[in-house]
Amino acid sequence: MPTATNIQELELIGNRSLSKVVVGGSLKNVKDYLPDENVIILTDRNVNDLYSRFFPSFPVIVIESGERFKTLATVEFIYNELLKLEADRFTFLLGIGGGVICDIAGFAASTFMRGINFGFVSTTLLSQVDASVGGKNGVNLGEYKNLIGVFNQPDFVLCDYSMFKTLAEREYISGLAEVIKYGFIHDESILALFEEQGDAIRQREKELVHELIWRSVNIKKKVVEEDEFEGGLRRILNFGHTFGHAIEKAHDLLHGEAVAYGMLVALYISEKEAGLDPEESARAKGLIISTGLIRKVNLDLSRINVIFRKDKKKSGNKIRFILIDFIGHAIEWNASNEVLEKYFSEWLDQFDL
Ligand code: NAD
Ligand code: MG
Repeated sequence: MPTATNIQELELIGNRSLSKVVVGGSLKNVKDYLPDENVIILTDRNVNDLYSRFFPSFPVIVIESGERFKTLATVEFIYNELLKLEADRFTFLLGIGGGVICDIAGFAASTFMRGINFGFVSTTLLSQVDASVGGKNGVNLGEYKNLIGVFNQPDFVLCDYSMFKTLAEREYISGLAEVIKYGFIHDESILALFEEQGDAIRQREKELVHELIWRSVNIKKKVVEEDEFEGGLRRILNFGHTFGHAIEKAHDLLHGEAVAYGMLVALYISEKEAGLDPEESARAKGLIISTGLIRKVNLDLSRINVIFRKDKKKSGNKIRFILIDFIGHAIEWNASNEVLEKYFSEWLDQFDL
């Protein structure tokens, strides 16, 4: 296992470009990855307040923090700021922040003057294991999440987990949901790690945090390299997200917390439709709960269903739902909205912590 000061790098080979991911990289060394000049930084208010003193000395555009600012209006504001700063086609845009900043920075950079180069210092667990890696960039449109966007790889992603020292407990735990997801769909040994070292993981023990991020980005690399534009395999990354999305919108939950619920539903359906061994399913459920991912809310079936139907309008009546037939292996299963809603309500009836 690497030591706390270790840096591990990988290259994600996209169809159009290479993307370097540096696990254990540091904001303080970001200059090593940047051009010498013509760089502009994009960050959000929280990250700016906490870390601007460590930013390299380039102009900074600050936007408000939070998902509700992940809009085209914010992107327009950024274009105007770029113009004021006399950005040109050779400007490099550096996003420093969590998933919201990475998604917006990637989208603004990919569209400004038909595309300028960009990279990220990724500052939350969720963005390091998922959002910042893989080249999906975009913003929400009204109530539709990530409806407007592009596929385009950043030149680099620095995963600086020393910045987690300021990250709220809920945000950190929420990020663990995506790590556990990788375990379910691709790497059973991640579950074993959580079972053996759960406490140390929750306490953010550095070597374990490094190991989990490293394993996660390697799985994402493998999936994205095979299917960058999500024609098939990449869809397995949506495990737990079909209901997760609707639950996230219907209740005041963080992404990972809602995906955790979504994974419980998907495990239940996996038992019924994919032959997942009930004991393995119980093991997986136990892990989600013991990680602290399930916040007690009274799930509102009718509200979730309304949002679920709206969401599905985008994808047609048949949904490609992701199941696991055993831990570490995902499959696709086609289902109608009605069948899925029936299973959801069945799951809710029997759900007990
Ligand atoms: P976020 O960027 O909103 O960050 C969460 C909060 O933590 C914000 O308030 C932020 O200001 C603050 N923060 C960030 N870094 C911090 C630090 N080091 N210390 C203290 N506070 C810090 O949200 P997120 O959870 O990082 O990412 C969620 C977003 O990622 C969603 O918009 C989601 O759609 C997107 N996402 C994208 C992909 C993709 O493939 N593009 C994948 C998964 C998620
Ligand atoms: Mg997700």
